[in-house]
Amino acid sequence: MNLILLGLPGAGKGTQATRIVDTYGIPHISTGDMFRAAMKNETPLGLEAKSFMDKGELVPDDVTNGIVKERLQESDTVKGFLLDGYPRTLNQAEALESNLQNLNKSLDAVLYIEVPKDILMERLTGRFICSNCGATYHKTANPPKVEGECDRCGSHDFYQRDDDKPETVENRIRANDELTQALLNFYKERGLVHTINGQEEPDEVFAKIKTILDSQANS
Ligand code: ADP
Ligand code: AMP
Repeated sequence: MNLILLGLPGAGKGTQATRIVDTYGIPHISTGDMFRAAMKNETPLGLEAKSFMDKGELVPDDVTNGIVKERLQESDTVKGFLLDGYPRTLNQAEALESNLQNLNKSLDAVLYIEVPKDILMERLTGRFICSNCGATYHKTANPPKVEGECDRCGSHDFYQRDDDKPETVENRIRANDELTQALLNFYKERGLVHTINGQEEPDEVFAKIKTILDSQANS
């Protein structure tokens, strides 16, 4: 299954991505995670991305398209992939379409997680993430079942993202809002979009996604 997760920052893409990849055994390709890993390792890509990410701006399309193009050539994508946070612009959507054509692949579904903008700020400023496996939590709305212990891998080590400060969060939501609508139109024209209400509990949201994906697999 070749899938895209679409939604504004804080909609719950990372939260659902973990559940999708654990259930369907496909790799999770998050451009945000790739940039954060490059920043941590202080590679040239990381240094370039940092200047944009620190301000809540998008990294330039040519850089982002380049890393995804390389990633999609890796062998673990033969059974499918889940793109999270990519594409974010029409230029990226077009680049992805032509990359997939060259690889003789096509998209099976675009899962759009819809959440009203006024909820996103609270979600992002309360977010924390497992340092070991990347599972995502929220201080009040979605804490681990046992306090201080990751549900998914048992680690006790968590971090908060540098760009989850209120001033950066506002910028990120603004930078993505119109673009997300444009992407939705792009994929609606191709008949690929499934819209999911992202305001229910994470497990409920996943149940809806699973119904969609299981019916795809059987069709
Ligand atoms: P994204 O990857 O789209 O930016 P995340 O998956 O990181 O979003 O979720 C953002 C924050 O919202 C996290 O703190 C997460 O725990 C919380 N969250 C995710 N899904 C839900 C949900 N359905 N209800 C309440 N909080 C949620
Ligand atoms: P995310 O982890 O998806 O919230 O992304 C964090 C940050 O990484 C964004 O605010 C951008 O600066 C950068 N980024 C991630 N994905 C992309 C993308 N597809 N295009 C441009 N910038 C991106």
